[in-house]
Amino acid sequence: FVISSVALASLLCAIFIYQILSRPYKTKTVLRKALKRNEFMPWLQGVVDKNGKICGAEVLMRWQNRDNKIISPDIFIPAAEESGLIVPMTSSLLQPLQHFLLQNLEALPADFVLSINISKFHFQDMRLAEECRNFLNPFPEKAISLCLEITERELIEQTPLTDELLKQLHNMGVKIAIDDFGTGHASFNYLKAFKVDFLKIDRSYINTIGTPSVSASLVDIIINMAKKLEIDVVAEGVENKEQADYVIKHSVNKLQGFYYHKPVPLLKFGELLNNDL
Ligand code: C2E
Ligand code: MG
Ligand code: MG
Ligand code: MG
Repeated sequence: FVISSVALASLLCAIFIYQILSRPYKTKTVLRKALKRNEFMPWLQGVVDKNGKICGAEVLMRWQNRDNKIISPDIFIPAAEESGLIVPMTSSLLQPLQHFLLQNLEALPADFVLSINISKFHFQDMRLAEECRNFLNPFPEKAISLCLEITERELIEQTPLTDELLKQLHNMGVKIAIDDFGTGHASFNYLKAFKVDFLKIDRSYINTIGTPSVSASLVDIIINMAKKLEIDVVAEGVENKEQADYVIKHSVNKLQGFYYHKPVPLLKFGELLNNDL
């Protein structure tokens, strides 16, 4: 009995390990196929100014699979990052986005900022500068700006390559945002080295506005720090009027959240823009 249970245990163990090892491979194959079939879509969530008017948008990837199910990025981004496919997946969004914005140039507000989430792997690749240049190329000067969001949890290692990349991006006028600010560990040096333009306060902090928690007072501290560093603040995940009023009172002038707009497909966002004129 003892021997057979040991044998059974090691068999189960072997199956378990096999499943773990084969999973990244399978996921990679599935994502690669989806990419070939163009199943990754750019959705847009409006970013508004303090009057509630759209002044920009964040690109949020959606996977529309063959059954036309919409799959949320939380489910596939980790595997995409792990396999390196996140880079071509992000690149595949650029052409439809460019086309959409060119079609809707008339309806775009002045100083429209398009924000794209960029994985740290993409930031190790000089082609990112080329992609941004190609993206901006057909637009009349100042028609739009591009902003690259990097999450504070994935701090980018500073190397000669990233220095050169950031220099080129900066010269093209591409902006840099630190996403989910407050959830990672960016230093003052980091914010300075990357010439950060925007801090996006994570929604877990915005959530606490109006409650007597430590995080709620951290919202003030983050806003004040950003002011001193001359970095603009975006409040993420604004879900109600109280949160909106609070951050606006503390001179935040870019807001994003379900209180204003949810992420929507390009066609829908086009309608929003035209209604907002
Ligand atoms: P993120 O960049 O911080 O994007 C904001 C997320 O918060 C989005 O979730 C958005 O739908 C959600 N959100 C916005 N306002 C509210 C609100 O008021 N309440 C709540 N509860 N949620 C709100 P989503 O679209 O599911 O994306 C999740 C994350 O996946 C993103 O977080 C980003 O880290 C990642 N992601 C999405 N698209 C891309 C992409 O194209 N590339 C990369 N590298 N990552 C992406
Ligand atoms: Mg983001
Ligand atoms: Mg965020
Ligand atoms: Mg997030």
